[in-house]
Amino acid sequence: MKTTTAMPVKIDAAGFNAYVISDTLSKMVYVCAIIRSGFYNESPDATDHESGINHLFEHVLLNAWRKCNKKQCALFWNNHSANYNGSTHMQYVEYHITGLDSETADMVDYITQIINNPHFDAKIIEAEKAAVLNELKIVQNNPTHKLYHALYSCVYSDRSGLRNETNIQMQIDNLKRITVADIVEYHKRYYTSENITFFFAGNITKSAVISALTRNMTRKRGLDNRGCSAVTIDGDKVLIPSFRAISSNVAGRAGRNTNTNFPIFIKNPEAKNTTFAIILPVFQPSPPDIVSTHHFYLFEGIIGVELNLLLRTKNKLVYGVGVQSYLSTNGNMIVITGSCIDKNVMRILNMCLHYMVEHQHPQHRVPEKIIHAEKGRFAMAEYRQTRTAIQNIAYYQSFFTMYARMNGSVPLAELKVPFVSPEQMLCDIESASATDMRKMFQSTDISKAVYGYIGKHKQ
Ligand SMILES: [Zn+2]
Repeated sequence: MKTTTAMPVKIDAAGFNAYVISDTLSKMVYVCAIIRSGFYNESPDATDHESGINHLFEHVLLNAWRKCNKKQCALFWNNHSANYNGSTHMQYVEYHITGLDSETADMVDYITQIINNPHFDAKIIEAEKAAVLNELKIVQNNPTHKLYHALYSCVYSDRSGLRNETNIQMQIDNLKRITVADIVEYHKRYYTSENITFFFAGNITKSAVISALTRNMTRKRGLDNRGCSAVTIDGDKVLIPSFRAISSNVAGRAGRNTNTNFPIFIKNPEAKNTTFAIILPVFQPSPPDIVSTHHFYLFEGIIGVELNLLLRTKNKLVYGVGVQSYLSTNGNMIVITGSCIDKNVMRILNMCLHYMVEHQHPQHRVPEKIIHAEKGRFAMAEYRQTRTAIQNIAYYQSFFTMYARMNGSVPLAELKVPFVSPEQMLCDIESASATDMRKMFQSTDISKAVYGYIGKHKQ
C-alpha cells in the first residue's frame, strides 16, 4: 500500500468554508468555488421559464471579474499561465482555476471576486448567450438526446428543472428571454454565504487562504433558500417520488396501471443503428452512509461486467454496454446504455431487465470470482493515481460533491463531510460481500424501470 493521502484541512474565514491541501513544494495553485445551485434549483415554481439559466450564468460569471473591465476574461488569462473553467451540474455549479504559483494573487482574486462581487455587463451576457447556444446546438446535433429527454421526463416528472436538463430546445428558447435583471436576481438568490464552499490546493498556505477570504468575501444572506429534498422516507428506505413511471409487463413481472408505455420509442429516420437506455431507481438506506455508497460503486461495476458478459461475449448482441450509477437526494439510479443493430433491441432490453429480476432472487449469488476481480479493478484505478496536492484535492472535492448531492437539503456551509481517504474507500469496497450485492439488487425497483430506444424503426 502507498503512503496515506493528505487530508484537506477545513477553514472557516469570514463565514465561508474552505478546504485546503497545502504543499509548499508544489509549483502550482488550484482555486475552486462550489455553489449549491444547479438544474434542480431552476424554476422551483414548476414553470419552465428558468430552465438553463445556471449554464448561462456560469458562462457570464467566468467573465464577470472587474479587473477584465467589461471585456472577456480570456483576454486577461491568455497572457498568464493559468487555465480556468466552470461546469454546471444537477445540484451545483463549480468554478476553478489552476496555474503557476506566480499567478496565485490573481487566481485567488479572480475566483473570490466573481463569486462575491461580479460585474454583469449586457454585452458580455449577449456574447455568452451565443456561446451557450452553440453548445446546446452541438447536443441537438446528436438525436440521442431526445431519448434521454423522454426517459428523464418520466424520472423527474415532478421537478421541472431536472426534467429540462435534457430539454435542449426549451433551454434555447429560454436563453433569448433571460435579461440582465434575471442574472442579477439569480446571483442574489443563490450566491449566498451558506451556499458556497471553496477548495484550495498546491503552494498556498492556510493563512494565505484565510486572509484572502477575509479580504475578498462579504457575508450575504439569500433572498430565500430552497434546499432540495426530493425524497420521502418510508421506514428505513428512501423513496423517490419523482419516479412516477410505471412499467408495462416486463420480464415476467405483472405491470401495474400504465400511464406511459415502455419501451419508449423515438424515431430517427437517419439512424444507422439503435441506441437504448434503461434507468432503474435504487433505494438506499436512510440516512445514506458512506460504506454503502462505496458498495454502490462496486454494484455498478459488477452489473457492467455481467451484462457485457451476457450480451456481448455470450450472445453477441452488442459491442458494449455501459452502466453508470447516480446517487443523490433526487433519486439513486442505475443507468444502462448501449447501441446495437436494430433487430436486437427488444431482446437486449428484456435480457437486461431479466438479469436484474434474476439477481433479486434470495438464492442468487454473484460469483465470488467476479466480485474479487472487480474489487481488484478498483484497486488498480487507485494504484495508478499519483498523489500531488492538486490531485488529492480533486478526489476530496468529488467526495464533497457526492456527499452534498446525497444531503441535498443541507446548505453547503452546514455540511459536515465525513471525508474518507482513497485508501479507506478501497477498504470499504473490499468489505463488500455477495450478500451485500444481492441486497443492492433487491433494493432496485424493477417495476419502476424507465426504458426506451431511438432508431429508424419501431421494433
Ligand atoms: Zn458551457
